[in-house]
Amino acid sequence: MSTVEVKELRKSFDSGRVHAIDGVDLATGEGEYLVLLGPSGCGKTTLLRTIAGLEEPTSGDVLIGGQVVTGLPPRARRIAMVFQSYALYPHKTVQANIVFPLRAEGVPPREREEKARTAAEMLGIGHLLARKPRQLSGGERQRVALARALVRDPTVFLLDEPLSNLDAKLRTSARDELKRFQQDIGATTIYVTHDQSEAMGLGDRIAVLSAGRVRQIGAPVEIYDDPADTFVATFIGSPPMNLVPHGDVLVGFRPEHLLPVENVAGERVTATLEVQRMEYLSGDRHVYGTVDLGDGPCRVIARLPATVETPIAVGERHDFAVPGARLRFFDAGSGLRTE
Ligand code: ATP
Repeated sequence: MSTVEVKELRKSFDSGRVHAIDGVDLATGEGEYLVLLGPSGCGKTTLLRTIAGLEEPTSGDVLIGGQVVTGLPPRARRIAMVFQSYALYPHKTVQANIVFPLRAEGVPPREREEKARTAAEMLGIGHLLARKPRQLSGGERQRVALARALVRDPTVFLLDEPLSNLDAKLRTSARDELKRFQQDIGATTIYVTHDQSEAMGLGDRIAVLSAGRVRQIGAPVEIYDDPADTFVATFIGSPPMNLVPHGDVLVGFRPEHLLPVENVAGERVTATLEVQRMEYLSGDRHVYGTVDLGDGPCRVIARLPATVETPIAVGERHDFAVPGARLRFFDAGSGLRTE
């Protein structure tokens, strides 16, 4: 059993002045890859550190494998963690750093070396085993820390932006490797990131956090297609969901669903777009402008794929439409979905 559960978890700092975690409930499935996603300061790291046992919760409980572990030290929790700020032993070689937890557990030398080599090769640092940490780049050091976590065959992985020091290309390949590895060993993983494409690509489910609370938890497609509130709607997606005021509601639609009217068949809502600016990005046309649903002009973005060839010019007015099924409605006061 390697599920992780938190119940009514709260963590305050500064004598209760800062509520870093403000009542969080969540539970992973067995072997699930759960991503904690949210803006800087929303409480992701604090939540992960509390699950790891590096922070004592102010109230609430942490359960691992169905057992309450609140109050137990990190090493009693059968978890492996890699944090943004990881510590390597500066005087030990990469090999010695990676096998360190195995030495402490009394694993025989030959097995230790084999595991270190497998993990190091998986992460592309197999040729660096004899070096010392100071002879490595930041990204290489990060991978040593990751390898050190991997060799323990953990049943629960807690990862806090473990790829943040890698360049974009390496990051993508390390991400794929990590996912494949996690699937092979079936370890339950909680992964913290503020990068939504990383979250979308890695997560079985994503928990979107803001101000110490979970705003929504669901599969990437649910979070994207059916955001629970305007925070999630605008935090996820690039460009974000359009929100146009209309009476007591905000009418939401993704930029890729706002198309020239002649490209939208069936039941649809139309509006005239005043085109102000255009950008070409990865073959798509991003059209910036305003629409007015009766409450005054509101800025919107339309994302037109290359297959839409309708000529559109800056300064002109053009009728656009959104399929009815793509509209999402939010309460203008609370920001919550109304249906
Ligand atoms: P980032 O993406 O920037 O790493 P985060 O979502 O991981 O942010 P946390 O590091 O968990 O956010 O911080 C949550 C809140 O708690 C922030 O407002 C932070 O300033 C505060 N906080 C975290 N640790 C402490 C501490 N030891 N003492 C006081 N306040 C803290």
